Amino acid sequence: MEGTILTVNCGSSSLKVALFDAQLQKLASGLAERLGKDDAFATIKGRPDRIELTAGATHESALRALVSALQDCGLLDAPPVAIGHRVVHGGETFRKAALIDEDVLTAIEDCANLAPLHNPVNLAGIRATTNLFPDVPQVAVFDTAFHHTLPQKAYLYAVPQRLYRDWGVRRYGFHGTSHQFMATEAARLLGKTPATTSIISAHLGNGCSITAIRDGNSVDTSMGLTPLEGLVMGTRSGDVDPGLFDFLANKGMNAEEVHRILNNESGLLGLSGQTNDMRALCELADHDHEPSRTAIDVFCFRLARYIGAMMASLNQLDALVFTGGIGENSSLVRKKTLAHLGLFGFTMDEELNAHHGSISDGQIEGADSRFRVLVIPTNEELVIAREALASATPGSAG
Ligand code: ADP
Repeated sequence: MEGTILTVNCGSSSLKVALFDAQLQKLASGLAERLGKDDAFATIKGRPDRIELTAGATHESALRALVSALQDCGLLDAPPVAIGHRVVHGGETFRKAALIDEDVLTAIEDCANLAPLHNPVNLAGIRATTNLFPDVPQVAVFDTAFHHTLPQKAYLYAVPQRLYRDWGVRRYGFHGTSHQFMATEAARLLGKTPATTSIISAHLGNGCSITAIRDGNSVDTSMGLTPLEGLVMGTRSGDVDPGLFDFLANKGMNAEEVHRILNNESGLLGLSGQTNDMRALCELADHDHEPSRTAIDVFCFRLARYIGAMMASLNQLDALVFTGGIGENSSLVRKKTLAHLGLFGFTMDEELNAHHGSISDGQIEGADSRFRVLVIPTNEELVIAREALASATPGSAG
């Protein structure tokens, strides 16, 4: 079939779009930043000129500007055949991507109480594209859906069950599109099928999570009810003692302040006191900035602990996979992390690691390693485009 597929990923102050052809080759991508601020702007990748947006630009106006820029490039002469939206929280309702109708919209709104910072802005993106392309099928692709296979022992918190029954308090997991992509890519590189492949997938970007994937299914993951649990992240703390909440409350902090500290002021930023950006931290560490070294050490040690923990869910391990901006690009993080895991039999090839993996199959493990270790670039947009095409046009390539 012919036609294009548009993917839309709305963050609180940003909007990313990508355009694919019917064979799922990426044609273009664009990004709008600082939405809601005076200096909002947008760019199409590979084009030098910035698209100035009006002060306080909304997601809808940014989307219009990006679509019109894609039209100017001659890439979007006809409306797309499908639009795929990243939606962060699908709760227990959505186990796979969903073709959007009124019922689906209501269900996404219902899930917003589980992700008050994310789902409303995802809905804003859906409304914006609906206004722009009223006749095009729109598909919601959920970060949580891939984790619907988590067993009860992995998703229940040890709190009174009524919190789960009444309010849905459980572990959901996020970054599902990336972990799903790792499962299929690792299987391809290993010459296996996803259904017989078991991996540990470490997605390390600004947000970080790790997932144990057994025979193609997510069976444990580090993020929980919200994307705050688990690994150390750019500005998020990951795991802390739950006792910290009433400790800080006794110091006079309210829920909003605790939320801000743990989500926006912690992680690599909080530990280093400098930046949430791993590349910048590695440079600072090179210049003997001690707090930056500490931040990297804590990040890698927590990651190694979680890799060990994920082993408990697997009966075989075909590969440990690193992905995301840090996982794909930081040889230092991979090296420091694997250094904690010698007892399991992981070894690393310095040369391959320095080159971010062998070009043909992403390999970085040493010849004597008990397990394969791969670096695989993630491609969440491609998963969203693929799911959108499959849901909007059943029977197509998919
Ligand atoms: P997001 O989660 O926002 O999509 P990315 O996956 O792009 O983020 O990851 C961003 C992180 O990747 C930042 O901390 C950035 O510093 C880090 N990163 C990118 N390139 C490198 C590099 N060469 N060395 C170390 N860290 C890097």
